[in-house]
Amino acid sequence: MRLITTRMRIQEVAQRWRKVYEPFKDKDFKYNGKSKQQIALELDALDPNTATAKDVEDIIGNTTWTKLRCDECEQEVDAVVEVGEEPTYESSTARLCKGCLQKAVALWPKRKHVDMGGLEFSDNGK
Ligand SMILES: [Zn+2]
Repeated sequence: MRLITTRMRIQEVAQRWRKVYEPFKDKDFKYNGKSKQQIALELDALDPNTATAKDVEDIIGNTTWTKLRCDECEQEVDAVVEVGEEPTYESSTARLCKGCLQKAVALWPKRKHVDMGGLEFSDNGK
């Protein structure tokens, strides 16, 4: 479980780009009219603490490298908590915004022992 913010996505974008695409090849598909290596160099040159998501979008040509979306309410947000398996194409991973996490916590029974339709429920004293 970890917090992910748009700022963190921007701070890590150059490293993530290189992790996905290095080593670069001359015949690589061009993004936004640029080679993957050219994009890597432009991402390296960004100031990670002041660059905006728009700056990254202008370099790469799309928003997928910075955009954060809540899997519950499907809104674009600036911060999510990622829960579940380490994300891959087939992982069981969910990203939830603060509002949806608060709604999830509110579902939890307040009393220590609650009769849940015949099933005894315990919250382990927490
Ligand atoms: Zn949400």
